[in-house]
Amino acid sequence: MLPQRECSQCGIKFAEFRNTGRLGCPLDYQEFRGELMTLLENIHGETRHCGKTPRRLPLSKLTQSELIQLRNRLKQAVHREDYEEAAKLRDRIKQLERELSRTRPGTRRRAAPGREGHVRRRGTAA
Ligand SMILES: [Zn+2]
Repeated sequence: MLPQRECSQCGIKFAEFRNTGRLGCPLDYQEFRGELMTLLENIHGETRHCGKTPRRLPLSKLTQSELIQLRNRLKQAVHREDYEEAAKLRDRIKQLERELSRTRPGTRRRAAPGREGHVRRRGTAA
């Protein structure tokens, strides 16, 4: 079971929101976004964005939607003043962003001599 999270602004619980479909305050969509995404994923098998996400990076679509989720969770964590969680999320976001910039087609950087650019070191976590 998911923990019963509630909006930090108006105190509405996700279950109430889901049952009534009513928002207690304009923040609720943000507050419950993670839960909503999970809910939608469970129902439809995938979460669809209505054209809001630019489609220029089809290969990294998954990474992108994960990034979006992580950023929302980060916002929520900061909002809750859960800085430990926020730090973890930030690290994960950085990691994903790096992966994205590496896999982005067409903008692959040439390994500049003398810079760490393309060199892969075994066993060393970057
Ligand atoms: Zn609210």
